Amino acid sequence: MRRRFPRARFRRPQQLRPSVPPPVRRALTRAQRLREQGDFLAAAAIYDRLAQEALARDRQRAGLQMTLEAARSYLRGAAGDEALKRARQAAEQARELGRPALVAPLARWMVRYLDEHGEAERAARFRAEMEDVLGQRVGRGPAAESAPAAARRLPASCPACRAPLYPEEVTWLAAERAICPFCGSVVLAE
Ligand SMILES: [Zn+2]
Repeated sequence: MRRRFPRARFRRPQQLRPSVPPPVRRALTRAQRLREQGDFLAAAAIYDRLAQEALARDRQRAGLQMTLEAARSYLRGAAGDEALKRARQAAEQARELGRPALVAPLARWMVRYLDEHGEAERAARFRAEMEDVLGQRVGRGPAAESAPAAARRLPASCPACRAPLYPEEVTWLAAERAICPFCGSVVLAE
């Protein structure tokens, strides 16, 4: 009887060939281009839609990533109220995932934004609300640098799916290798 090699032997690791549906990749590419052009509100609308689609498919981590990106894009586009709404949604999603720390940098940015726009009282209320939901302090300073040194060379977006990447939000496998939170592919620091 002929011996056959197990099929698994010829398979590449799952993370190396993530399945990002072409329309999703196209949408992420378009959103990236819009951000580069400074059209943050149009980009935010795309991330919003992708967040809803991911959550509807029970892809909680990817959904959170898109909600965070929608919030950031609205903030960059100076749409404070929209950003605030997404930040709250992201906090709830992160709490359900058991990953509240993922929202802390955005929460800090949001507090700073409100402070800088003369809404100190609202900023204080929002900070208290976030600390309650996230179960951790939301300070004023920039995000703590906990990612490895290679984080500085992490591509701005995932080569496989074009989702934006942030050193403090990816899972680091090693100093030079991180996992894209949206599609799960391994991203090499450049
Ligand atoms: Zn990806």
